[in-house]
Amino acid sequence: METVRSTERYDLLVGGEHVPPTDGTYVETVDPATGDPVAEVAVAGESDVDRAVGAAREAFPDWRDTDPAVRGRTLFRVAERIRDHADELAAIETRDQGKPLSQARSDVLSAARYFEYYAGAADKLEGTSVPVGTGQVDFTVREPYGVSAQITPWNFPGNLFARGVAPALAAGNTAVVKPAPTTPLSSYRLAELCVDAGVPASAVNVVSGGGETGAALTGHEGVDTITFTGSVATGQRVMQAAAERVTPVTLELGGKNPAIVYPDADLDEAVAWIDRGIFTNAGQVCSAADRAIVHEDRYEAFVERIVERAESYELGPGEADPDMGPLNSEEHFERVLDYVEVGVTEGATVATGGEALERDGYFVEPTVLTDVDNGMRVAQEEIFGPVLTVIPYGDDEDPVALGNDVAYGLVAGVFTDDVRRAHRAAQRLEAGNVYVNKWFGDTNQTPFGGYKQSGIGREKGLEALDSYLQTKNVAVNLESGSGGDLPGA
Ligand code: NAD
Repeated sequence: METVRSTERYDLLVGGEHVPPTDGTYVETVDPATGDPVAEVAVAGESDVDRAVGAAREAFPDWRDTDPAVRGRTLFRVAERIRDHADELAAIETRDQGKPLSQARSDVLSAARYFEYYAGAADKLEGTSVPVGTGQVDFTVREPYGVSAQITPWNFPGNLFARGVAPALAAGNTAVVKPAPTTPLSSYRLAELCVDAGVPASAVNVVSGGGETGAALTGHEGVDTITFTGSVATGQRVMQAAAERVTPVTLELGGKNPAIVYPDADLDEAVAWIDRGIFTNAGQVCSAADRAIVHEDRYEAFVERIVERAESYELGPGEADPDMGPLNSEEHFERVLDYVEVGVTEGATVATGGEALERDGYFVEPTVLTDVDNGMRVAQEEIFGPVLTVIPYGDDEDPVALGNDVAYGLVAGVFTDDVRRAHRAAQRLEAGNVYVNKWFGDTNQTPFGGYKQSGIGREKGLEALDSYLQTKNVAVNLESGSGGDLPGA
């Protein structure tokens, strides 16, 4: 497939063709490190979304009926293409999203892993046989839904494309992807590589645009299942749209994740993990270590060491592979700085950071807010930036209860050398993922998703396939004659 463009204008990808939007609308995306324009990207209207869904519907029966071993081999080739183009994809992601090049590269390699992992699953999507007695053969088959709508946010654009598209295709669905308006470029390139590797051209379509494009997709009658990753507020709207036609949804929403540091924790290790957990991708991570809940005996030492680390960060354009890049957009940059002010007004102390860098682009210093009470907005609301809130607790308080006292339930971490204490905390923490003595413990193979307002369903691992398969039970009568017992007899 032709991938070299003479301009930085990105059209929609429908049925394997780059097509302009019907009404000719394009928006400019910018380099978050400078604010300079990067590309003009098509905004899909309702009729464009209709075309993309139509293409995916048309491709569905053939892809569903493709020998699963062939589907698997095709997905494996996609993984190889991604690995072969890792440098190019990482450069695209860094320019569009702003993250340091090495982090973008890691996202890209993890995207390849999704395709490898689900390639291996494509021919193992087995049903079960149900022992209902000698008069009937009874078994289940697992069938794809049809067209999978994939709506992604701007923090891990290419990686989340792969997280959803790979299992959707492995299970025999086709896809229409709507990336976030500020970061669509890697999704276009990844979709091209899918087609290049042999995925039928109409089986992966990309329609860029904002909320209206997303709403046109979730409201389209040709969509059979929806995978949404983004904020709680938008997730609620997606769920309402899905309710109209009882379309299944998988929602991967936000987090406000507790990292509990017990008095017996190895403090250097805890600080190192939490530092990485909050400042990776400038804190624009749903599973960030947002809230350090630290025993009062270790509080001072913890703050001293995390501040020291935060102050050692080098910030700069992602292309130079600094420790931290800019925030993704001006709007988000303003939002994060507003949150620092909210924290100060609420009585928190800025132990370090809290300011924008005096340069172009959307850079915010790594920030540590101390003297935080769990009831404050900065402890309850997702900031989604490089802002750690540190909450002390005493012997008469239960840190797990404090950790759970929030509307979210995505991930949680505990740092302790006491194995019983770790397991007891893991049992009681209300989160889809619990890390013990580390952060970001999930891999492509482990199920990932939220309790409470952090979402519905699971991504990653074999469990993700449940979002892309429906179960059919087949009952075959072995006895002659008609009628017979009622089910309750
Ligand atoms: P967002 O909710 O603003 O947007 C997400 C996507 O939804 C974008 O593509 C957007 O254009 C689209 N959208 C907006 N309105 C829509 C509508 N009415 N119908 C359909 N689609 C619509 O989120 P964001 O600001 O892009 O991303 C940040 C959020 O994503 C954070 O809350 C973060 O925690 C969450 N997130 C969660 C995970 C996870 O796996 N749980 C991963 C990454 C990000």
